[in-house]
Amino acid sequence: MMGTSGSIARLPTYLTEILPTRLRKRCVPEWAGAGMKVTIERDGCVSCGSCWETCPAFFEQNQADSFSQVIAQFRIATENPAEGAAPEDLEACVTEAADLCPVQIIHSG
Ligand code: SF4
Repeated sequence: MMGTSGSIARLPTYLTEILPTRLRKRCVPEWAGAGMKVTIERDGCVSCGSCWETCPAFFEQNQADSFSQVIAQFRIATENPAEGAAPEDLEACVTEAADLCPVQIIHSG
């Protein structure tokens, strides 16, 4: 069994390597690493269709309220159509759609 001096000797390693890794795992949101976060302020949407025509792999029209939404596959939370995480191969079209939105309600990054 290792004595107290062994535990103290490992303290610098714990503080500089193990603890930061554990904290990072707890603090980083679930969507991190899964892609670029995208938010649509849906109540400001004018249903122009620009985003789902520019980037149909990520945006679609909600059939109930006609506003833009993130397609289910890329939502951060299934029940929230306003937030998604765009995979790397869709980042360019999502960014273009955000740039073209006439009311600038799509936010990414
Ligand atoms: S481009 Fe903007 S205003 Fe047009 S449908 Fe998409 S989110 Fe709505």
